[in-house]
Amino acid sequence: MNKEEIIQKLFNGEMKLYQIDKFTKDATEALEIRREFIAQKTNTDLSYIGSYNIDMNTAMKKNIENPIGTVQIPLGVIGPLKINGESCTKEYYVPLATSEGALLASINRGASTITASGGCNARVISDKMTRAPVIKVENSVEAIKVKTWFEDNFSKIKEVAESTTSHGKLIKIDPILIVGAYVYPRFVYSTGDSMGMNMVTIATDKVLKLLSEETNAKHIALSGNACVDKKPSHMNLIEGRGKTVVADILIPEEIVEKKLKTTAESIVEVNIAKNLLGSAVSGTMAFNAQYANMVAAIFLATGQDLAHVVEGSLGITHAENRNGDLYFSVNMPDLPLATVGGGTRLETANEGLKILGLNGSGSVRDFAEVVVSTVMAGELSLIGALAAGHLARAHEQLGR
Ligand code: NAP
Repeated sequence: MNKEEIIQKLFNGEMKLYQIDKFTKDATEALEIRREFIAQKTNTDLSYIGSYNIDMNTAMKKNIENPIGTVQIPLGVIGPLKINGESCTKEYYVPLATSEGALLASINRGASTITASGGCNARVISDKMTRAPVIKVENSVEAIKVKTWFEDNFSKIKEVAESTTSHGKLIKIDPILIVGAYVYPRFVYSTGDSMGMNMVTIATDKVLKLLSEETNAKHIALSGNACVDKKPSHMNLIEGRGKTVVADILIPEEIVEKKLKTTAESIVEVNIAKNLLGSAVSGTMAFNAQYANMVAAIFLATGQDLAHVVEGSLGITHAENRNGDLYFSVNMPDLPLATVGGGTRLETANEGLKILGLNGSGSVRDFAEVVVSTVMAGELSLIGALAAGHLARAHEQLGR
């Protein structure tokens, strides 16, 4: 069947968008026909969406269905950003993708402040990925029996879960929550350098098969939302999910004045009034100025799962005036990250990670330190600008 015949069948409803691949030599040709059909159907010129050079045949296998092209977002860098990390002290140029004017200029000013102060400390406090199915039994008495089954059989469960992966390790099943006849065991894994959601889903599924073989319990859903994936939650704030990371720094008084054009006292006041009290009075779960801005930009540039921005937006920014010097910390409990698997294999994302020297195995903890330090740079600069009354002027000059 040639291109025109396929497009005609799509118009007639005789063929579905996902069936085109059966009649073409490869996924790229199917993509082009699909795009042409959408262009004709919607009377739209799709020449920008259709201009790309990543390998769509590979992307089709793991990253996208029904592709018609790619999206282009401007990509920039900030730096050098000096980080005193767990494994080394290093200066990084950080790739960030955004369409928000003034964002990179602002983060760059924060990076320059950090670097001039000798760098920030950055550490991974804990590293885990979770999956919590929901299981239904007859009543609460039976639910408690299921909870006990998980507790009594941990060694066997661990062996079954880990038989599905060479990098994933089951650390614990905790908490195991009960609501009437429903049980929510939260499986907690370490997942190496991958973000791990597919890995832990496959591993947990195998454990649920064992559960149904050994008891009468059946799961209702492989994810029962106590995971908690891609939603802001108190569970993740307290227990942590993905990387739980912290960065802090002491910025000398003269650098606060020279780079941020303000004082530690003013920054502390803005932080209390805005990030702490303002967040408390509005019931906001994130006690910070703009973590999501830096997280979204670095996620786009490095192929992270974008829906996890909602988790990475959580955390507390803290500031103290220490005799004129500024003590500043950024605390992120819930930051799912990868340097292997998922979207990191896409060519542009992989190049983004290579700018950092952090693509592939053995890199994800250093990458987490880069993310939290970049978030610190953005927080410092925005809160500094608010303290100095510069925010409106910067946006007028750069964003309009
Ligand atoms: P993945 O690409 O499915 O799995 C990672 C793969 O990398 C595994 O095959 C693993 O092998 C291998 N690997 C090689 N070197 C590794 C290393 N150093 N550390 C860890 N793994 C290594 O990715 P994933 O992280 O599990 O899942 C991410 C994807 O899940 C994203 O695309 C995301 O959008 C999607 N996602 C899925 C769900 C879901 O519910 N299923 C939810 C949210 C997001 P071994 O397993 O043999 O160790």
